[in-house]
Amino acid sequence: MNYKNFPMVSRVIFGRGSFNQLDEILSPKRLSTKAPFIYFVDDVFKGNAWLTSRIPLSYNDKLIYVSVAKEPETSQIDELVEEIILNFKALPSGIVGIGGGSVLDIAKAVSIMLTNDGEAKDYQGWDLVKNPAIYHVGIPTISGTGAEVSRTTILTGPERKLGINSDYTPFDQVILDPELTKDVPKDQWFYTGMDCFVHCIESLNGTFLNAFSQTYGEKAYTLCKEIFLEDTLSIQDSQDKLMMASWHGGMSIAYSQVGVAHALSYGLGYLLGIKHGIGNCIVFDHLEEYYPDGVTMFKAMKAKHNIVLPQGICKDLSDKEFDIMINVALSLEPLWENAIGKQWKKTITREKLKALYKKM
Ligand code: NAD
Ligand code: ZN
Repeated sequence: MNYKNFPMVSRVIFGRGSFNQLDEILSPKRLSTKAPFIYFVDDVFKGNAWLTSRIPLSYNDKLIYVSVAKEPETSQIDELVEEIILNFKALPSGIVGIGGGSVLDIAKAVSIMLTNDGEAKDYQGWDLVKNPAIYHVGIPTISGTGAEVSRTTILTGPERKLGINSDYTPFDQVILDPELTKDVPKDQWFYTGMDCFVHCIESLNGTFLNAFSQTYGEKAYTLCKEIFLEDTLSIQDSQDKLMMASWHGGMSIAYSQVGVAHALSYGLGYLLGIKHGIGNCIVFDHLEEYYPDGVTMFKAMKAKHNIVLPQGICKDLSDKEFDIMINVALSLEPLWENAIGKQWKKTITREKLKALYKKM
C-alpha cells in the first residue's frame, strides 16, 4: 500500500467579518512595490461597494472581474496569464480569488501557470506541475464545492474536463468569512450546497473510505442534514455551518474520491455546459440504485426548499452526443472504482450509462 501524502491549505482564518483582515494578511507577502496582487473577483460583485471597497488595492495591484457564466476553461486561464505577463514587469506577489468554486479554480490555475511553461491544458491530470505556484489566496463567497480546500482546479479543455491535481494547487491562505455568502440566491445556495452533500454521500459510500475520510465526511453530512432539513438554525448559523460543511466535505474526498454522480455530471458539463452544482443535482435525483438513502434524503431536501430541477435535458440528444457524455463519464476511472469497486467494468456498461442519461 502506498499512502497519499497530501498537502493542505497552510493558513486559514474563520469568522464573520474576517475579510476585513485581508490587508494585514497580504502586506507581509508583498514582494516589492512592482509585484502586484492580482484579485480575481466574480463579476456578480461589480458595483457592490460593501465587498469591493474592502479590497486593499495599492501600488500596481489590479482587480479583474471574471464572468462565471461558463465554468473555467483552459484557454481562459492562458489568456489571463498572458494578460498578467504582458502588463506587469514583475511576477505578481500573489493571486487572490474572491467568489465561488469557479473563481477559486481560476485563481489556483493562474497561480500555477504563471510559473510553469506551456498551456493550462498540458497540466490537466495528476501531478504534472513542475514548479511551485505563486502565493495564492482563496476567499469563497458561496459554500459547498470544497474548492477552497482541495488539491485540484477543475478546467474544461479542448479534449477533456479534468483538474490540475497537484501538490502546488491548494491555497496558501484561505479566508472563511460566512458573511460573504449572505446574498447568494436561494436556488444557487441549494445547488452548491448539494455539491457538498453529494461529496459526503459518495465518499461515505465508496470503497476507498477510511477513518480519515469518514470522520470529515460524517461531520459534513450531519451539518448538511441540519442545514437543509431542520428549522433550528438562525440564518447566520446556517451560513457559518455550511461554510464548514463545505470544508469538511472537501477534506473527506481529498482522502477518498467522489463517485457516480460526479462521473455522470462531468459528462453533462462537458457536452451541455451544465454547471457542477446543478448537474450533480440533476444526476443524483436518479441514482437510487447506487445511493438509496442519500437519494431519499436529497428528495426530501429538494421538496422542503421547493427546488424544481430541469427535466428532459437529454431527450433530444443524438447517439453521437450520448457517446460523448459516456466517454467523459467512463474516463473517470478512479470515481467508478471508488463507487463500485475494482470490478466496476462488469456492471458499468455504455448501455447502463445511456439508460441513466435518458432519464435526465
Ligand atoms: P460558481 O462559482 O459557478 O457560482 C455560482 C453562481 O453563484 C454564480 O452565478 C455566481 O456569480 C454566484 N455567486 C457566488 N457567490 C455569490 C454571492 N455571495 N452572492 C450572490 N451570488 C453569488 O459556483 P460554485 O458552485 O461555487 O462552483 C462551481 C465551480 O466549482 C465549477 O466550475 C466546478 O467545476 C468547480 N468545482 C471545483 C472543485 C475543486 O475542488 N476545485 C470542486 C467542486 C466544484
Ligand atoms: Zn463536486
